[in-house]
Amino acid sequence: MNSHQEQARAVLAGLDDTRSWREELYRSLHQNPELSHQETRTAAAVRERLDGAGFEITDGVGGTGLVAILRNGDGPTVLLRADMDALPVQEATGLPYASTATDQDDQGQTVPVMHACGHDVHVAALAGAASLMAASTQQWSGTLVALFQPAEEVGDGARGMVDDNLAGVVGKVDVALAQHVLAMPSGVVGTRSGAVLSAADSMRATVHGRGAHGSMPQAAIDPVVLAAMIVIRLQTVVSREVAPTQPAVLTVGSLRAGTKSNVIGDHAVLELNIRTYDDQTRTTVLEAIRRVVNAECEASASPAPAEFELFDQFPLTTNDPDTTQRVGEAFTEFFGVRHQELPLQSASEDFSDIPVALGVPYTYWGIGGTDPATYAAAQRAGRVDQDIPVNHSPYFAPVLQPTLDTGTQALVVASLAYLGAPG
Ligand code: ZN
Ligand code: ZN
Repeated sequence: MNSHQEQARAVLAGLDDTRSWREELYRSLHQNPELSHQETRTAAAVRERLDGAGFEITDGVGGTGLVAILRNGDGPTVLLRADMDALPVQEATGLPYASTATDQDDQGQTVPVMHACGHDVHVAALAGAASLMAASTQQWSGTLVALFQPAEEVGDGARGMVDDNLAGVVGKVDVALAQHVLAMPSGVVGTRSGAVLSAADSMRATVHGRGAHGSMPQAAIDPVVLAAMIVIRLQTVVSREVAPTQPAVLTVGSLRAGTKSNVIGDHAVLELNIRTYDDQTRTTVLEAIRRVVNAECEASASPAPAEFELFDQFPLTTNDPDTTQRVGEAFTEFFGVRHQELPLQSASEDFSDIPVALGVPYTYWGIGGTDPATYAAAQRAGRVDQDIPVNHSPYFAPVLQPTLDTGTQALVVASLAYLGAPG
């Protein structure tokens, strides 16, 4: 066992003593989820836990973001990031601590709110890891930055913190680390070098027709038919224009047109989601979408040009190979066979906006949240995709343990792969 492992074991000797408050914090966060940019209660709960433990705390960074810095002598600075926001999803897990919360979304609509992406796990695990590190400063030296980020789900929370002088708040950082709970067996930690999460773009395309009575199609240019043609034709972009070795996703997530069966409307709005893993594929797909939409508009004799708007854009997440190797070796020593290679993920994240802005290397790993027996049964039946609820599902319910302990341990072990030996 090397000295980093000895340090990790010493710091994590306090894990059992923190379990009850970490679980309590998790349940409380789960029951009181907050939408993107509204994470005030969550940030306050973190602050309450870390106050008085030796952290220099700055809140209100990029809105509701919170940065807690623990200075412990000479040595590297490690930044650990957890995202805090929940989603407009109606929880259907049936858990005793399920959310019944509602809130106003940015359109002023009342929506249900649920931690359907597990960011409550991330917050509780980081609060736990930061507390353990603060309680055992004699075991390590350097600086630990615990960063609690708002608004990951809408893709602008990390950017908001960067734009609100994050670099001035954190000073010089050497490495940035983050994790996400995923639909893998609980207790498993997965790392991956290189591209790990996709770049994401959402696009709104508005196409124009000519409205008329439903009985008089000859007087109309029907936007429903036009939009339907676009939806079908778009299915050929990935299958016919992108190399089969190159992963890409193009989903038409929303299609709106018309108001009534006997009225032909005058426009249709399509909302698309695009996931890619390199810039060239991204350009190919975005250009193909515009070409298909414009060509179908011409085919329908559309009276006005289509309008395009890009929104909810997420950067590519590409793990630095050296950082991933260093963290991965520490995980193998600590977790043994529970450390595995993480498969390429089609989801996206804005975490990388932080290390990219700070000019530091990063790695982002996954932790499992699914009951191992349930996962094994689904695997035996060949039904993992069908039977295991994934992130954003109303049934997404990480088993509390060993998920929370694993997330806490992973953050401590990865930090100590960098932080120096005691003074
Ligand atoms: Zn999410
Ligand atoms: Zn998430």
